[in-house]
Amino acid sequence: MIFESIYLMTVIDVIIISLTSIAFWNFFSNRQALKHLKVFSGVALVLTGLVVISSLYIADLISMYVLPLFLSGKDVYRVMRTLHLNYSWLLSTAGIAIIVASLLYLNRIIFPRIIRLEEELTKRATTDSLTQAYNRSEYDEIVQREMHRCKRYNTLLSLLVLDIDHFKKINDAHGHLAGDNVLKEVVNIIRENIRGSDYLTRWGGEEFIVLLPETGVEKAEALADRIKDSIENHQFNGLGKVTVSLGVTQYREDDSGEELMKRADEAMYRAKAGGRNRVEVGI
Ligand code: GH3
Ligand code: MG
Ligand code: MG
Repeated sequence: MIFESIYLMTVIDVIIISLTSIAFWNFFSNRQALKHLKVFSGVALVLTGLVVISSLYIADLISMYVLPLFLSGKDVYRVMRTLHLNYSWLLSTAGIAIIVASLLYLNRIIFPRIIRLEEELTKRATTDSLTQAYNRSEYDEIVQREMHRCKRYNTLLSLLVLDIDHFKKINDAHGHLAGDNVLKEVVNIIRENIRGSDYLTRWGGEEFIVLLPETGVEKAEALADRIKDSIENHQFNGLGKVTVSLGVTQYREDDSGEELMKRADEAMYRAKAGGRNRVEVGI
């Protein structure tokens, strides 16, 4: 028996049992993230191994403090000898401490870092970096999903296309950075007017589209008017008045994504041809 001191053994047992409990609690509190990363069963397996090994330490505590109540000192000593036979006790203690430290490191540092990275990648792949509106490829997926929902549940869906009037002149007169700021401010104004369930996309350059689930064309037109007025009345830091032209349409059964977009786009071009700073509806 390498450890003769019952106090030292007690301390080691308590440390291992506490470490295993911490690892278990940590695993439990982080279970959503582990499931999300699809490493839940792997970590659970390691933890099960840990619990099995640490049960030896619980047995040890029991043998030190409970057995003497029932057995003679000689018998207790015999049991303790089998438990603390050699240096493997010391090694398994160090091993458990390392596994627990690794699990904590994975759970607290590595996994959250992977999740943040994944979120960052998703954001970059789905949004426009200047305005944080959705990008075109994300819109393609969204519109397919929403058209599908529309058909299935027989609900309404409208689309609004917005293009900034004479944007080239803003760039030419005040520079590209001022132009970029106008794009960001226009996006903020659109966001203030739409609902959380609506989808704002930067279609390209200074053209934006808003997909409006559960919305008929009359409400979409009223919204387009509100956005147009808000932009017209907004003070754009010494740039003078900025206006937009909008086209609105509603999803018809068996429309393709392209047909829906084309109708709204044509309406927007009619608004341009009609003098700009207007809303036109394409039915
Ligand atoms: P219209 O009223 O007919 O829409 O005129 P317009 O000048 O707005 O239209 P046009 O499409 O000719 O010009 C769009 C301009 O938008 C041209 C391009 O330089 C500018 N643009 C596109 N993307 C960006 C961007 O990210 N930042 C800035 N600052 N300008 C951009
Ligand atoms: Mg324009
Ligand atoms: Mg344009």
